[in-house]
Amino acid sequence: MRLAHHLAIKNGHLHINGQDCVALAEKYGTPLYVTSEDRVIEQFESYKKALGARYPKVQVLFAAKANGNLALLRALAQKGAGADVFSSGELHLALEAGMAPERLLFNGSSKTPADLRLAVEKGVKVSLDSLDELHQLDAAAQAAGKIAQVSFRVNPALEVPTHPKIATGLATSKFGIPHKEIPAAYREALACRHILPVGIHCHIGSQILDIEPFARAAEVMIRIAKELTLMGVKLEFIDLGGGLGIPYHHDTDPSPIAEDYAAKVVPIFKAGVEACGISPELWVEPGRSLVADSTVLLTRVNSTKSAHKRFANVDAGFNILVRPAMYDSYHEVIVANKADEPLITEYTVTGPICETGDILAPDRKLPQLAAGDIIAVLDAGAYGYAMSSQYNSRPRCPEVLLRGTQVALMRRGETVDDLKAAIERPAWQM
Ligand SMILES: *Cc1c(COP(=O)(O)O)cnc(C)c1O
Repeated sequence: MRLAHHLAIKNGHLHINGQDCVALAEKYGTPLYVTSEDRVIEQFESYKKALGARYPKVQVLFAAKANGNLALLRALAQKGAGADVFSSGELHLALEAGMAPERLLFNGSSKTPADLRLAVEKGVKVSLDSLDELHQLDAAAQAAGKIAQVSFRVNPALEVPTHPKIATGLATSKFGIPHKEIPAAYREALACRHILPVGIHCHIGSQILDIEPFARAAEVMIRIAKELTLMGVKLEFIDLGGGLGIPYHHDTDPSPIAEDYAAKVVPIFKAGVEACGISPELWVEPGRSLVADSTVLLTRVNSTKSAHKRFANVDAGFNILVRPAMYDSYHEVIVANKADEPLITEYTVTGPICETGDILAPDRKLPQLAAGDIIAVLDAGAYGYAMSSQYNSRPRCPEVLLRGTQVALMRRGETVDDLKAAIERPAWQM
């Protein structure tokens, strides 16, 4: 199986960043997320380099929802990253990580009044999703005696080749304002006394492995930019969103990289803005493509059994990694302590959750398994821990961060006390 260069098989064991996954599982217990900070930074720098080589004003905003660990946000902040934040929680964490407010964009289709007040207070730009929200933000900015800088989220009405649950720019999607109604929205924004429209924003979906849809979206955005410029909107940024996919099937999926994206999209962008006579910043919001392949999820085999299929029952289920159950996602798996043994037996790798759908990896050819073996689920860094839960009253697992030869816990595992931490006892039960 093809592996990125931070992963390697040595002495029969899978290694990440030079660390033996089996030893990490022994030391920290399982389930365990293990992330290479070096790999995340490498991916971030590859975006900056690919875009920056073709256009001088570029901002890379990490989509914080993909992996909201504060330590990871801090590592990115130290490299100059901003963030696409989708909640007040993400906004607080991004600021805490040291990201500059002017490098944050508060996205979201359903913001609360408190979200809008926080954005105004912190001076963070807001991507508006409705006219209702525009007027609420105008009022919040007026109350604070401030001017809120905004963009609107454009729905470009594009079909994209991905899972329907993560296609976000379809005409029927809940996100954004139909592209035909965008000029009217900006006209309304220009009339608001406490609103300053400074950008436009789109995000067409996630896990997109074909570059073409990004080029189509850029064309739509350029058309809109031209129209808005004629209307008198001074565009300081055009945000093309995130969505670049990663090759979850290591040997068969296309593997577009930031360089491919930039080579296709930036020329359209650059020619477009030059034709408008403007020079806005180019913003992108990658999430998955920055963090997915940085991380392995280590999980221990509790038992095996032969029923109508051969099952390997492991200690991580959809409470830890929901993507296979939620999106039918594929993740490569490697038996970390038998990484060079022949793949001779077919197993369905199942989690410990009381749900039939709790399957991590169906029908995989693996080495002969035994209780105690450590299975590494690859590419678990995006929408992995971030979407985990305490379902079945299972404490969430720890996360370890690797940098160079260093190893550190970046989140401790929860305990039974954490399951009780937020619980109140009603008076009538005293
Ligand atoms: C989720 C999201 C992203 C990131 O998407 P990826 O597919 O993880 O790159 C970027 N922008 C917005 C607005 C999003 O909702």
